[in-house]
Amino acid sequence: MGSYIPDEVVEDIRQRTDIVEVVSQYLTLERRGKNLLALCPFHQEKTPSFNVNPEKQIFHCFGCGVGGNVFKFLMMVEGVSFPDAVRTLGAKAGITVPERYSPADTAQKSKKERAWEIYGLSREYYRLLLSKEVGQRAMQYLVKRNLTKTSQETFQLGYAPAGWDALTKYLLSKGVSKDELIKLGLAQSKENGCYDRFRDRVIFPIWDSQVE
Ligand SMILES: [Zn+2]
Repeated sequence: MGSYIPDEVVEDIRQRTDIVEVVSQYLTLERRGKNLLALCPFHQEKTPSFNVNPEKQIFHCFGCGVGGNVFKFLMMVEGVSFPDAVRTLGAKAGITVPERYSPADTAQKSKKERAWEIYGLSREYYRLLLSKEVGQRAMQYLVKRNLTKTSQETFQLGYAPAGWDALTKYLLSKGVSKDELIKLGLAQSKENGCYDRFRDRVIFPIWDSQVE
């Protein structure tokens, strides 16, 4: 995870940064309608398919599929971490990003990290079930949809079993509290306990949106 920067600070820097200006320091952009085009720096090509959309402040390459906001671009083109990309662009925008944050910020950080830890446990559990007999029908479905082993790995697909509390029981045994399960949307409460939110379905995890 690296060092933590509050979302408001990240958003503030993003709003004060122009993606076109940043990308122009690396690539020659040509206007094409609403978008700006360039030869993609992330794959070999002879005709430009790397697009920058000034209105949405995002980039996307139709050749290799990469895309995201200005932080993602800097991370990829300079090979730096997310906090470093935020700091670099913050400095340009006149916003100093401290190395450390107050105890309140640290509490927010640990809450976030705890959430990721629990999501990670759930993902691993669902992935394991997909490879077991209980997940066989889901696996057949994925094979029919032409989702190869490689893309199953890439997208970290899993299977949530049909019962009422498989994940809940598993996570409780790992020291996760009922409160946490409900707050994170993994379980729903009922009078005498809680039950799994996801039942008998294929699970497609969603990744951190901060760098997208
Ligand atoms: Zn590309």
